[in-house]
Amino acid sequence: INNTVLESVDIERLKEIDRKHFFHPTSLVKQHKEGPSMIFTEGNGIYVKDAYGKEYIDGVSTLWNVNVGYGREELAEAAKQQMTKLAYGSSFYNFSHEPVIHLSEKLASLTPGDLNVFFYTSGGSEANDSAIKLARHYYKLKGKPEKTKVISFQGGYHGITIGTTGATGIQEYKDMTTSNPPNFFHAKPHLLNCEKGDKTDPDYSESIRGIIEREGADTVAAVILETVVGVGGVLVPPEGYLKAVRELCDKHDILMITDEVICGFGRTGTMFGVENWDVVPDMMSLAKGITSGYIQLGAVAFKESIRDEIIDLSGDNFFFHGFTYSGHPTACAVALKNIEIIENEELVGNTKRLESVMMKGLKYLEENHKVTARSRGIGLMGGIELLADRDLGKEFDSSANAAVTVVDECIKRNVILRALTFGGKNIVPLAPPLIINEQQLETIFEVLSESITAFEKTL
Ligand code: PLP
Repeated sequence: INNTVLESVDIERLKEIDRKHFFHPTSLVKQHKEGPSMIFTEGNGIYVKDAYGKEYIDGVSTLWNVNVGYGREELAEAAKQQMTKLAYGSSFYNFSHEPVIHLSEKLASLTPGDLNVFFYTSGGSEANDSAIKLARHYYKLKGKPEKTKVISFQGGYHGITIGTTGATGIQEYKDMTTSNPPNFFHAKPHLLNCEKGDKTDPDYSESIRGIIEREGADTVAAVILETVVGVGGVLVPPEGYLKAVRELCDKHDILMITDEVICGFGRTGTMFGVENWDVVPDMMSLAKGITSGYIQLGAVAFKESIRDEIIDLSGDNFFFHGFTYSGHPTACAVALKNIEIIENEELVGNTKRLESVMMKGLKYLEENHKVTARSRGIGLMGGIELLADRDLGKEFDSSANAAVTVVDECIKRNVILRALTFGGKNIVPLAPPLIINEQQLETIFEVLSESITAFEKTL
């Protein structure tokens, strides 16, 4: 990165304007009084630079999304060409345009099984909202209008629209709304034995199977779960779990929706997360890595058989669901180029190769610090917990600010990471751009280790 550094008087002015006029998404509210702590100005590869000219490694691909890294002129060029040719085109009714057609064909060649039909949105929340509406609509068309309930994970994250706040299982996100939308239920994640039918397990009533039995399968439309839980703490499903959920959904005629908003496009070392466990859901939501964050796009992939039934059962009826920016031509053109980069540069293979470095780094942290525990990960998606007493599994008091302090220490040392602090937990996730190399990944671990040591010294 070699652009000029802003004058400090200009930086102070930007901060002041931000403080006065910009309300930040997902933010600590009192920080609005202070203005931003960092103003990003540039990015290149795995690095981003702030207004003072300080350069950082982006250890979390910003919001788990910049898979191909920053500064990709090919993506800017693809956007420019499309904007110049056809800046916008609706695909409402029976209109269409080239980028949305080409992207749909490309995605169909990549997605598992017969997940060959795509509905487009501008991001992950809209994709999950659409998947849930589609599931309910599907059963209504099939003469089962009472099948409306949706089961997701406690601690799962599916977005922040009113509908997806229902599916999201993190209480902090729900606290903003006065009531949870009806017909959303939350199961404990990854209860393998329960989902296989072990009713003696004390958690059985909180399993997906237990909830289906209690509510009645004829009232449940869908199970929606993240293939690997991200924001809720990087939880990798145990072997056999997704297959057990697939069988459960098949048995009860319930649609299985996997949220691949983070896992999709290489993050776990396969193009889509479900491929690690050889499972084909009925629907899959996509966003983030579909354009590596260069432009807003999301999608719901669903089975051809579901599309065919919807068409057969709809008769002369309209499909009253579409966004102005569904299948935006520029977003689709950028997605196509982004997928071309992922394929040409073998970024899925790079992610798979670096998985062992990620796991080794996490193990090192766990074995060499007093406050670290429960490291886990897959591909280039890892997480480590900070515990006050790991033998007793005791969490830090919130006043210790454990994960936030560690992350602040990392930022001082030029590595950007993120603190996940829901439900009193302190988890530091890692999700660098998929273009990272072994040495750069090791640098992140060195910095994280030094930062944990710095935090330990404060105790
Ligand atoms: N699903 C998952 C698994 C996510 O991690 C996110 C965002 O972090 C979303 C859905 C929501 O996506 P968006 O923020 O694009 O609406």
